[in-house]
Amino acid sequence: MDTQLYYAPCGFIITEPDGRIIEANEMISKIIGEKSSELKQRHITSLLTVPSKLYFQTYFSPVISLYKKVEEMYLTLETSEGPVPVLMNAQERDEQFEYVFVKMKTRDDFENGLITAKRQVEKILEDTDYANGELQKLLAELESKREEITEANSRLENLAMIDPLTSVRNRRYYEEVLTHFLKKSEEENFDFSYLILDIDHFKKVNDEFGHPVGDQVLQDLAWKLEGEIRSDDVLIRFGGEEFVILLSGIQDKLAVKIADRIRENIEISEWPHSPITISIGVSGAQKMDTKDSIFKRADEALYYSKKNGRNQVTLR
Ligand code: GH3
Ligand code: MG
Ligand code: MG
Repeated sequence: MDTQLYYAPCGFIITEPDGRIIEANEMISKIIGEKSSELKQRHITSLLTVPSKLYFQTYFSPVISLYKKVEEMYLTLETSEGPVPVLMNAQERDEQFEYVFVKMKTRDDFENGLITAKRQVEKILEDTDYANGELQKLLAELESKREEITEANSRLENLAMIDPLTSVRNRRYYEEVLTHFLKKSEEENFDFSYLILDIDHFKKVNDEFGHPVGDQVLQDLAWKLEGEIRSDDVLIRFGGEEFVILLSGIQDKLAVKIADRIRENIEISEWPHSPITISIGVSGAQKMDTKDSIFKRADEALYYSKKNGRNQVTLR
């Protein structure tokens, strides 16, 4: 046996095919507790406990003759310090049998190490899975919160464009919608007309019946005006007792007719305290109009309606 094998850190034995030991290295003699020279000529099974001997005799010979090797036989050696579990591998070579023995404790240590490492990896994977799950939950929560905020924002935005007294659109909305109408009129040959309406002698209503009645009149008027227009028209409380109506797809001549119908319906409709009339200024959208220019024409028209006696419609 060469030196390296002799001092190898595992037990090594060579036997004749009948099992008589020819060579034994230092490690196996250390495990058994006998000098290697004393192991020579002994039978391999004499190193085993009784149960291992039985197992060896039934299993080893058929396997080695069939496969020329035996892998991973768990045996127990009879040693000076009592039984020692070992793992044995053997092979047939040059008509001799070579055996390697590894103490099971060594193997156990190794396997325990592996098992611990495996458990740690499993735990890490479990933790990672859990963390990922939590992260997904948080992301979903974040997404739904984001949606809620977007919804709340758009509700707020809508609210910010509503007049709280009359619940019709306010001046802020007016700025946006008029810009949109003007752009559409310039780009798409879209007609619209601008009506500005003002309650006649509204101050008197407040003076005679009180401010809360004045408020009620404004609410009723807004509600009535809403009933006078179509869904693609726009009603705005422009301020105080003034309203603006944008008539979608309507040229000025027709707008005057519509305005007069509105004026008349307001005049003849039921009012709880005293009748109300309105004056209206009308202007059809023209080329190159701006928010200011169309407003100015309509406002001038309103001025003439007032000047000429109120409760009437003027076109500019
Ligand atoms: P004109 O025919 O020339 O329009 O006369 P008027 O009295 O309607 O016009 P004026 O501008 O002199 O008065 C408008 C009145 O509208 C004065 C103001 O107190 C009233 N007013 C404006 N906003 C409100 C409101 O929100 N509630 C009430 N109750 N009154 C309002
Ligand atoms: Mg006014
Ligand atoms: Mg007025």
